[in-house]
Amino acid sequence: MSESVLYDVAVVGGGPAGLTAAIFAARRGANVILIDRKIDPGQKLLLSGGGRCNILPSVSDPDAYVTDSSPFTLRNILRSWPLEDVRFFLEVEAKIKVQADPASGKLHVIGGGKVARSSLLDLAERTGVKIKRNFQVVRLNGSNPFFLTCPEKRTIRATRVILACGGLSYPQTGSDGSGLELLRSRDIQIVPPYPALTSLIGARSTHRILSGITMTVTVTAKSETDEASCRDGFLFTHRGYSGPAILNTSHVVARARQRREQAQVFVAWTDHTEDEWRAMLTEGKRSVRGVLLREMPDRVADQLLSEISLDEGRVATLEKDRREQLVRLLTRYPLPITRNDGFSSAEVTGGGVHLSEIEPKTMQTKKVPNLYICGEMLDAFGPIGGTNFLWAFVTGNRAGEAAGMKSG
Ligand SMILES: Cc1cc2nc3c(=O)[nH]c(=O)nc-3n(C[C@H](O)[C@H](O)[C@H](O)COP(=O)(O)OP(=O)(O)OC[C@H]3O[C@@H](n4cnc5c(N)ncnc54)[C@H](O)[C@@H]3O)c2cc1C
Repeated sequence: MSESVLYDVAVVGGGPAGLTAAIFAARRGANVILIDRKIDPGQKLLLSGGGRCNILPSVSDPDAYVTDSSPFTLRNILRSWPLEDVRFFLEVEAKIKVQADPASGKLHVIGGGKVARSSLLDLAERTGVKIKRNFQVVRLNGSNPFFLTCPEKRTIRATRVILACGGLSYPQTGSDGSGLELLRSRDIQIVPPYPALTSLIGARSTHRILSGITMTVTVTAKSETDEASCRDGFLFTHRGYSGPAILNTSHVVARARQRREQAQVFVAWTDHTEDEWRAMLTEGKRSVRGVLLREMPDRVADQLLSEISLDEGRVATLEKDRREQLVRLLTRYPLPITRNDGFSSAEVTGGGVHLSEIEPKTMQTKKVPNLYICGEMLDAFGPIGGTNFLWAFVTGNRAGEAAGMKSG
């Protein structure tokens, strides 16, 4: 059964990208319907930032994003709606109060993700967007107009369509990759999706006893084709390793697995260089363990020493070979990882619609006129810290403005 209404714009997906797109299209005078398969769309806003919803970063840094597409295109898109303007939209227009974290400057929502989600949904409704919940779009046919088929056998007709279905991560929130499936017959290049910002699963059972320990370290992940490095928090978990430094480099492991390459992950447990460690482990009367304990938790120090069967001993009597082994473990410790934690716990999806498929100013696909794509469906993601919501808002704004404009 087909609805008699022909909408100007149908937005598929009610996450931050889709809500922003719908609001801006409606402001341009378009008759807009937003369709979401969930009864309560925008669930990722609720989960984000551990409930505190880190809605924006302190600065917009296009170089921090990962894409297989052109970094120039990515940069142009991000710059097209500056961070200050996004913040104005959220704070003044959507009435989402934010506060900067004193240490990082990252912006968190006062009241958390619940407030962010309800404020965006309210603004969409106030702007005249019709929100259809519990409707999953399973097919996208035609082009002039588009026919959006839902399993309920209802077909929605629209002149323009904005896809904002998210990626494949945390599928229980509604984003399960079905948006990319809608493009299957449209000859649009898709970079194979992979989980990003995930924990890593460990292979060595001895590290389980370190579970719960947090440190600030530098993690470097390397494969034949990729390399990423991050100095930030690190957490031993009962299954492996987590914390921002691991999350921000985990995509190297995921991409290597996809390409059947090997990936290695190294940890520098402190800021000290090899030479600095060598000096500290050469002179003085202290015990080797005593030197390590000044720099790291005792259980981690004991773990490193046990790996080279060294628990007692003074620095002065440390043999050169042993010293070199220890310096390597301190500055380039190979983490025994087996894999990343997969889409079920990845904060974002890497890959997606190749950016060369869209007009960067409007998010309109080059091959299918009047079809727009925004948010995490696109081939780009940023590190933790508000960068992914920023991408969703910017691309949603571009798509909404452009799709709505045609109605004026
Ligand atoms: C645990 C967690 C914490 C996070 N924390 C942060 C953070 O603090 N800061 C940050 O910047 N980012 C964070 N992110 C990432 C951020 O949530 C996403 O990048 C962002 O939500 C993507 O926005 P989107 O609108 O593109 O897609 P989504 O938010 O995934 O929304 C997509 C919507 O589309 C709907 N949908 C999908 N397919 C269909 C279909 N076929 N028919 C109808 N509806 C459909 C879904 O139900 C969903 O509501 C976090 C993610 C997770 C999982």
